[in-house]
Amino acid sequence: MHKADAARIAALLRPAKRILISAHRDPDGDSLGCQLAFYEYWTTQKKCPADIVNHGSIPLKYRFLDPKSLIKSPSQIKRRPKWDAVIVFECSSLARVGSAQSLIPEGVPIINIDHHRQNSQFGTINVIDQTAAACGKMVYDMLKFWKARITPSIAQQLAAAIVTDTGRFHYHSTTPRTLELTAELMRLGADITALSDQVYYSYSLNHLRLLQHVLSGAQVSSGGKVCLLTLHNADRKRFGVPMRDLEGLVDYTLYIRGVKVGALLKELGPRKTKVSLRSTDSSNVAEVACLYGGGGHLNASGCTIDLPLNEAAAVLRKAIARARNSSKRSR
Ligand code: AMP
Ligand code: MN
Repeated sequence: MHKADAARIAALLRPAKRILISAHRDPDGDSLGCQLAFYEYWTTQKKCPADIVNHGSIPLKYRFLDPKSLIKSPSQIKRRPKWDAVIVFECSSLARVGSAQSLIPEGVPIINIDHHRQNSQFGTINVIDQTAAACGKMVYDMLKFWKARITPSIAQQLAAAIVTDTGRFHYHSTTPRTLELTAELMRLGADITALSDQVYYSYSLNHLRLLQHVLSGAQVSSGGKVCLLTLHNADRKRFGVPMRDLEGLVDYTLYIRGVKVGALLKELGPRKTKVSLRSTDSSNVAEVACLYGGGGHLNASGCTIDLPLNEAAAVLRKAIARARNSSKRSR
């Protein structure tokens, strides 16, 4: 984020008496870290009231980020406060906030801070940086330009955003600056070990049994380069793992040597399949997700296909093969 962007945002927020903070539905580490870091600064350093409202509950592994349960779901907002500005993190379109969208008052300014490749520029101010490894990096820049005090808890929130959104510094989006920024956050009080313990080493035994089941059905195609995992809803329920706690499961596809594109398909209903896509080369999985009305990044994307799980898997396998061929041609 440039200094001028931070100044424009500050100017737009200056007259606001109370603001609404939101992010994409089904919160992840980056969206939570951005919102909670910003909230702490806004309410304790600027001393202005704010509310965080998210569609979808917080996955178990990220609950430690919000010990005071500051994040509300739209249904918890009984009497809507008078919000006079809205700040939205990590949304490529306003629809990505899900049911929180209906809470946004008509005509109020919206600040859109995002790092997705494609963004519909839905804000009054749009600050989009697809080179940012995490949206948390943009929030850090903004707070520094505003001369905010980066407290240990703000540092921890922003470190959570960066560690999780870079896949623990694995994705191509990781740069020397990402590591320097993380070092800076550690000096300011972020505890990377504690956050890794919570996010990566806190599975329930049932979760591992579900993992065992899903991995036993792994389907590898395209000469070993594509791996699909599938999960029927009845099986998920049998293991007692909520849908929101399945983030990260798709990563196992890429643990296989030679696999370049992986997908996890989860049955949402008889004709509804949620797809998470990941790649480790130049295969553009955002392009695949876009075919079904979704989106995301070059190496991580998501969408919902209106087909039964097995049919969705067949259709997706072909779409991935086509995307891989077109990325080969353009190389
Ligand atoms: P997922 O694996 O579904 O959690 O999503 C991976 C990435 O794709 C994240 O950066 C999401 O923000 C993005 N994404 C997932 N679903 C959608 C969607 N329907 N529209 C736009 N972006 C999405
Ligand atoms: Mn992100």
